[in-house]
Amino acid sequence: MVAHLALAAVAAAADLAGAFIVTAAHKRGRAPLRFCVALGAGFMLAAAFVRMLPEMTNVPNPFLYVLIGYFGVHLFEHTVAPHFHFGEEVHADALLRPSVGLLALLGLSVHTVFDGVAIAAGFMVDPRLGVLLFIAVFLHKIPEGFTVGSIMLASGYSRGTALGAGALLGLFTVIGAVGTTLIAEQHVGYALAISAGVTIYVAASDLIPEVNREGGPALAWTVFGGVVVFWFIDWLLHDLH
Ligand SMILES: [Zn+2]
Ligand SMILES: [Zn+2]
Repeated sequence: MVAHLALAAVAAAADLAGAFIVTAAHKRGRAPLRFCVALGAGFMLAAAFVRMLPEMTNVPNPFLYVLIGYFGVHLFEHTVAPHFHFGEEVHADALLRPSVGLLALLGLSVHTVFDGVAIAAGFMVDPRLGVLLFIAVFLHKIPEGFTVGSIMLASGYSRGTALGAGALLGLFTVIGAVGTTLIAEQHVGYALAISAGVTIYVAASDLIPEVNREGGPALAWTVFGGVVVFWFIDWLLHDLH
């Protein structure tokens, strides 16, 4: 239990680090982030399809909960929030009202709760799954913190508020992990099913479009790099067992 809360805290710190990059670092320092997005997308989809979905055997209608997770993120990130996408926020005209920035923060908060749920539920099922899901979450956390920091700056908030927004996302991740440890063992499958849907949405519908928008074969190939990294770490964890 201590291990997965510690890893959730590390993931949370990455949200803050991402917000820090957007408020402080030189523009050139941001380039590697798009490779994190691509690597994260490949890793997350592989982890969701190969390791999360097969674990849900004790949940009746498991794919219903996957669907709820998937559309839950769509609901909060793209209908409740009028303007949201991963990556640097360059559409200041879409964020003229500060409330639009706050709604994007709210939308992203819902998904970050499930980042923590995925880590904790993974550990409760099998520590190896927990480690894989921690990596899946960690890989997209710095771009996530960067995204929220960028949104807050574009909608007119201060650097301090942008950093605070990154910290808040991290806090929600820890809350998601702590909350999951309170769930009875036999219900963890539901948490895992919903967070599988969230993971698939974030990877396939938030991160991949960002990869495709940026374009270029190097970035597109990096998605497969994420799958290869997943396969290698999965094999390593299996061997250690
Ligand atoms: Zn935008
Ligand atoms: Zn996330």
